[in-house]
Amino acid sequence: MVSEFIYRQPVEIRFGRGKLAELPEILAGRGLHRGLIVCGRHFAPEAQRLVEQNCGVVAVFSDLQLEPQLSGVEEAVRLAREYQVDCVIGIGGGSAMDTAKFVAAVAPTDADALTYFNGDRPLPERGLPIIAVPTTSGTGSEVTQVSVISHGATKRTINNPVFMPAVALVDPDLSDTVPARVVMCTGLDALAHALEGYWSRNHQPISDLMAVEAVRLVLGNLENAWRDPDDRIAHERMAYAALLGGLSFALPKTAGCHACSYPICEHFHVSHGEACAFTLDSFVRVNADERLEELCRRAGIGDTQQLADWINRMKALSGLPMKLSQLGEADTAQLARECAAHPLMNNNPVPMDEGALRNLFEALR
Ligand code: NAD
Repeated sequence: MVSEFIYRQPVEIRFGRGKLAELPEILAGRGLHRGLIVCGRHFAPEAQRLVEQNCGVVAVFSDLQLEPQLSGVEEAVRLAREYQVDCVIGIGGGSAMDTAKFVAAVAPTDADALTYFNGDRPLPERGLPIIAVPTTSGTGSEVTQVSVISHGATKRTINNPVFMPAVALVDPDLSDTVPARVVMCTGLDALAHALEGYWSRNHQPISDLMAVEAVRLVLGNLENAWRDPDDRIAHERMAYAALLGGLSFALPKTAGCHACSYPICEHFHVSHGEACAFTLDSFVRVNADERLEELCRRAGIGDTQQLADWINRMKALSGLPMKLSQLGEADTAQLARECAAHPLMNNNPVPMDEGALRNLFEALR
């Protein structure tokens, strides 16, 4: 039953193997000539080549921390100002793209990144154009207005239109070199985005369609992509699944599983994908209802029980933590308190208070 919704998707999406070669044309077509590339170390040599080829890129920031830190943003902002760049190109996983987004927002202002991180000033309405080029198949950051940045122990997920990329350039060639464990963690993150967008209290019909397809693609391709770096079809489909996963949650936002992922990351220093995967099958069981059963049928997995079992099997197969004891010393009462207080928990279709969350974590001991 479709009642009422607003659907918006302002990002130009270019998808396909070899698409990175279109970067010079994309920049020139938008009148951009002084780009800053923000990337991880694995992409630094290629980024330098782009500078040398004189195709619209003038500087590279590749000193990126994972779970990106504000100090990295500050450094890249200094570079952006020094080179008077006119756009920021984030090439990498979520860490690179989210850093690029923050840099693009802050660089044209006269303030430092901490001012905006602390909320001492509202983020500007417009920043430099952002070109987002994912190299992992997971976060969907290329199509969201979210930037996740940490400052010391404080990790903030900031949702603001200034972070919306102008262009998403999704080139599956770039994910060929991703290590197997990262393939699994990011793939389960993509699955979490699709499921959470679908079961979010704010879900809506167009996002739901993309969620179902993203789930179908992850179920059919993640294991092959994890097993075989040369399975080009599986990797290509995972890149598409991650893009659809991003579109699935961009408007409805995520829910309980992501709410829990932040305290889990903070306490146990695991990656974002690992933290989401840790409770994803538990939330499938908690949120099981007729709508979720329908998603399972449409995605070709029978029912919610089989979906939860499949997630569990992927974690077991790839050696991801499945019990709290594998993460570290855990105070389930404290963990439950922090997860219950996270704003995304209000988006979960089944209300989860501290007691319910403590039971969930106790079952994972
Ligand atoms: P990541 O960016 O931290 O990268 C994971 C690892 O893979 C790194 O070691 C990186 O160097 C390596 N890597 C990436 N591409 C590679 C390649 N092509 N070849 C070899 N190695 C490669 O991981 P991620 O899961 O993509 O991003 C996680 C971050 O994104 C977290 O900070 C998370 O909070 C954030 N996030 C953001 C959004 C959003 O909408 N903005 C959504 C979900 C998660």
